[in-house]
Amino acid sequence: MTETVTYQNWSQISGIFPILDETKGARSVLEWAYRSYPEEQIVYASSFGAEAIVLIDLIQQVKPDAHIVFLDTGLHFPETYEVIDKMEARFPILRIERKQPKISLDEQSAEYGSALWKRDPNQCCHIRKVIPLKETLTAKQAWISGLRREQSPTRANTEFLNKDEKFENIKICPLIHWTWDEVWSYIKERDLPYNTLHDHQYPSIGCFPCTQPVGDDGDSRAGRWTGSGKTECGLHTR
Ligand code: SF4
Repeated sequence: MTETVTYQNWSQISGIFPILDETKGARSVLEWAYRSYPEEQIVYASSFGAEAIVLIDLIQQVKPDAHIVFLDTGLHFPETYEVIDKMEARFPILRIERKQPKISLDEQSAEYGSALWKRDPNQCCHIRKVIPLKETLTAKQAWISGLRREQSPTRANTEFLNKDEKFENIKICPLIHWTWDEVWSYIKERDLPYNTLHDHQYPSIGCFPCTQPVGDDGDSRAGRWTGSGKTECGLHTR
């Protein structure tokens, strides 16, 4: 077994994965990850967007009963819940967990005021996404994410293995070299379910109050928190 990369021994690791396979290294990375970490030590945190569909399909080829967590803020589009149901039906052995925040939307409104996402989206994301993921990642050595380098300037330097200072573990990103066109070619070739909002100019899909369709010339994440200056929910920032 390859020595497990941990937050503590991170300094020992260097670039170890080839990228010249048919999946641009993604399958090699996943095979390494599930070989290296015990199953209770690794989880894929999935948004169930287009990249997630590719990643789930690749993961189930390597680890059919992998643990996948969806951060269910209670504010997702119906189409997002539909695609989760479809993926569960397609891959029934996968363990897909819908992780909810400790406080309901009503409790959030009572404590912070209504529509917190309009006044303080960072606080809202912290309550409904960051804390639940932190709870999930407690005592886990690694998590998987579907980040791609071309998605945004803030993701351009992502590596296959990343030291995650926020969650104090290793973040594994198998799809860093994939383009948007390659994601869709894979989905079509494999005839995989996908969020139908992608057919209506929603390249990146989060909670409905914070996601808008974008024009053809917009970058893929331009529809997220439009006009607020916010570009990330906080899971991928220090
Ligand atoms: S994306 Fe918007 S609604 Fe969802 S948790 Fe973040 S601020 Fe709240």
